[in-house]
Amino acid sequence: MIHYHEINLKGKNRGWFENHLHQNVVSALKGLQYNSVQRFAGRLLIELNPESSFEEITSRLKAIFGIANFAVAWEVAAEMDALQAGLAEIIPKIVFQSFKINSRRGTKNFPLDSQQLNQRLGAYVQNLTKAAVRMENPDAVFFVEIVGGRTFLYLSKLPGAGGLPSGTGGKVLCLISGGIDSPVAAFRMMRRGCRVHYIHFHSFPDTTMESQEKVRRILRILSRFQLESQLHMIPFAELQREIVAYAPPSLRVVLYRRFMLRIAQAVAEKEKASALVTGDSLGQVASQTLENIRTISAVATLPIFRPLIGNDKEEIMQIAREIGTYEISILADQDCCSLFVPRHPETMSNLEQVERAEQELDIPKLLQTALSGATKESVLPGFFSSAVLEQEP
Ligand code: ATP
Ligand code: MG
Repeated sequence: MIHYHEINLKGKNRGWFENHLHQNVVSALKGLQYNSVQRFAGRLLIELNPESSFEEITSRLKAIFGIANFAVAWEVAAEMDALQAGLAEIIPKIVFQSFKINSRRGTKNFPLDSQQLNQRLGAYVQNLTKAAVRMENPDAVFFVEIVGGRTFLYLSKLPGAGGLPSGTGGKVLCLISGGIDSPVAAFRMMRRGCRVHYIHFHSFPDTTMESQEKVRRILRILSRFQLESQLHMIPFAELQREIVAYAPPSLRVVLYRRFMLRIAQAVAEKEKASALVTGDSLGQVASQTLENIRTISAVATLPIFRPLIGNDKEEIMQIAREIGTYEISILADQDCCSLFVPRHPETMSNLEQVERAEQELDIPKLLQTALSGATKESVLPGFFSSAVLEQEP
C-alpha cells in the first residue's frame, strides 16, 4: 500500500499527478513479479503474488518520487472477526513486549470508529499475547486502515522518497561534471518532478575518457529516480585550446563556463528543455562568486537553476552519500576544467571585461565545432538490463 506525499495537497489537477505516479510505479517494476498496480481511495495498491520479491520491489519503490511511505499490507474482510483473525496470523511473525493499535477509518460504513477499534483490537491482542499496550515507543504498531469499503492490516511504514512524481515538473538540462555537486543538483530537481536530461563537456583527447565513463556511472545511479536519462557528450578540447591561446589566463574559467552555458542552451532548445541546472554553491570556488555567476549567466536566456546555491559542502556531500553518487564522484579523474587553470583566477569579473576578451574568439565557429561533435546516448539504471526493456511492447 503506497501513500502519496505532496499529491495530497493538490486540488483539481490531483488526478494528473496520481496518473504520473501510477505510471512511474508500473515502469519501475518492469521485469518483476506482481499481479497489478491499482489506484484505490487516494492510494496505490500493488497486488503481490507468491513469486514477488519484496526486497527488490521495496528497493525500487524507495526511488520513486511522490511517495510519502509504503507498507506491506494484508487485506481482510471488513468485519471484526476477520480483523482479529488477521492479527492472529501476523502476531507470530514478530517478537514484542509492548504494542499499540493505530486504526484509521476512512469509510463511515464500518460500525466502530477508530477509537473503538483501537480499544477492541488492543484488548484482543493483549489477551492473546499478554504484551503491554504502550502509546509511546511500543515495540510493535499494528496499523488498521479501513478505506473505500476495504480493510487492510500492516506492521510498519517504510519511508518513501517524497517530492513530486517524475514528469510533472517539466524538462530541464543539467550540466553534469562527474564532481560531487552536479549529481546532487540533478537529484534535487528530479525530486521536484522534473525530468532531467544531462550534458557533459569533456576534453578528450587532451584528457583520458575517464570523465565520460564516470558520468555514465553516476547516471546509472541517478536514473533509478527517473528510469532513463539522456546524456549529451560535448567535445570541449578545441574550444579550451582557443581560450588558452587568446584570452587572459585569469578569465579562463569564466570563459569556459560561458561557452558551456551557450552550448547547453542550444542543446536545451533543441530538446525542448525549459531550464538549465548547475551544481553551483555560492562562494565555493572562484567561478562561483556572485560577480562571476552574474557574468557567466549573462549568456543564457533560459532560466538557470542552482538548487545547491545555499548549501555548504558538508550538506551536499551528505546528500551525495545518501543517493549513492558520492563514492563515484570522489574517484580521481581529469575534468576538463582542471586543465589550464590559472593560479589566480578572476573572482570579480564583469561583463565588459569578458566581452572584450571574447572579441579575440570566433564564437559562432567555436560553438558550431563543439555542437557538430556532440553525441547523445541513453543511460538506464543498473537494475534494468537492456534485455528486460526489449521484451516490452
Ligand atoms: P561539481 O562537483 O558539480 O563538479 P564543482 O564544485 O566542482 O561542481 P565547478 O567545477 O566550478 O564546481 O562547476 C560548477 C558547475 O558547472 C558544476 O556543478 C556543473 O554544473 C558545471 N560543470 C563544471 N564542469 C562541467 C563539465 N565538465 N561538464 C558539464 N558541466 C560542468
Ligand atoms: Mg567540478
